[in-house]
Amino acid sequence: MARDERSVTPQSEDFSAWYNDVVFRAELVDRGPVRGSMVIRPYGYRIWELLQADLDGRIKATGHHNAYFPLLIPQSYMEREAEHIEGFAPEFFTVTHAGGKELEEPLVVRPTSETIIGEMMAKWISSHRDLPLLLNQWANVLRWEMRPRMFLRTSEFLWQEGHTAHATAAEAIAETMLALGFYQDAAVQIAALATVAGEKTPGERFAGAERTFTIEAMMRDGRALQAGTSHFMGTNFATAFGITYTSESGTAALCHTSSWGMSTRMIGAVIMTHGDDKGLVLPPAIAPYQVVIVPIGRGEEAAAVQAAATELAAALRRAGIRTHVDDRPQVSPGFKFNDWEMRGVPIRLELGPRDLAAGAALMSMRLSYGEGDAGKQSVPLSAAADLLPAELTAFQVMLTKRAVDFRDDHTAVVDSWPEFAAGVATGWVLALTCGEQACEDEIKAETTATPRCIPLEGEPEQGPCVRCGKPSAYGKRLIFARAY
Ligand SMILES: [Zn+2]
Repeated sequence: MARDERSVTPQSEDFSAWYNDVVFRAELVDRGPVRGSMVIRPYGYRIWELLQADLDGRIKATGHHNAYFPLLIPQSYMEREAEHIEGFAPEFFTVTHAGGKELEEPLVVRPTSETIIGEMMAKWISSHRDLPLLLNQWANVLRWEMRPRMFLRTSEFLWQEGHTAHATAAEAIAETMLALGFYQDAAVQIAALATVAGEKTPGERFAGAERTFTIEAMMRDGRALQAGTSHFMGTNFATAFGITYTSESGTAALCHTSSWGMSTRMIGAVIMTHGDDKGLVLPPAIAPYQVVIVPIGRGEEAAAVQAAATELAAALRRAGIRTHVDDRPQVSPGFKFNDWEMRGVPIRLELGPRDLAAGAALMSMRLSYGEGDAGKQSVPLSAAADLLPAELTAFQVMLTKRAVDFRDDHTAVVDSWPEFAAGVATGWVLALTCGEQACEDEIKAETTATPRCIPLEGEPEQGPCVRCGKPSAYGKRLIFARAY
């Protein structure tokens, strides 16, 4: 079959070229005029809105409130926490002029908002009665990227950042884990990703955090993608910004803070977890169109088929299904089939004169896995609105299983260096390591793999470092992988 201009480089030929083809040809994004910037097109933005709505519900249901803080942050704020400035300074965009004049103090375009929110927390918290303070912000942030990739690494991206303050360390850690749970649940239940939740090693922590937790998802090329992180800051930012409270006994104490974020990177994770040679595959929970109807009919038959398609779409929408009728007159049905397949729509319904006469439509699923049937199936028009919700649920469940099976098939428990090197070439490895930075640097130099996390689940284990033979650290096996 000739490859038309809408098709993509097969994933199995060149994963990286496939990814680029998918993001542009599926009309998720376009390049912005400034290097590393990304225009999110309506089809891509709708995916974000659906993910955002789910996550926002989880955040609000647990007592957090949305607020909005300024984009511009005085540079002196960023400098108050030593590790924070050291980590983020290389990525700053800085405003030095305004109104045609040089500013007295440069302003940093927020790369993250711990500092400006910390300043406000110090102002708003005075007594133990003000705690916990549970804030969330939906915003854009800017971080200069040397090697941009759409959704994965762009100089500007969208995210939410939760920021909370608590009386005790235990409460702040519980909050950190609660947020990690939002991410794990959204990633698995909505995006159908195969993730592992764990803690970052010291070298991979957020700049200024005491502890950083992550969910890592496996992509279809065997790499890991950090899909959400949650940080326990201890009293680092409370010290830097004077976030204190008066306890019941009247003594002044520092707050313990947390912060946590999930971003538009998640869309990249969805693309690389579910996509195949034909293009995008979208989980129904975040698919802009869950069902696309393609009416097929020429001449006198066209009007009747079109009317039936419109009626079917209305019935599906009443059943809560996001439905689109592709009635573009200038392109062939075959082109439409390929187009929506490439754009990842879970279910396609064909409706031709013969189908209409039989009172049915032909249903095709975007892909099948395991015991699923790849063939077309006839669905009675009168029953479609009752049957399709279950088909969409089954498709979502199938994608989750396919992702989990892939992750498990590409994760190896390794005890020798050759096994380690071979394992990270195609997937993840679970290995014991000494935890020394020099050893991790050597591992990275030789394989490009990095420690992704110390999984929360996982049995206690000790033994020699897979690389250098020294006694293992962390009391568990770590996940190592090449990562986005
Ligand atoms: Zn070692």
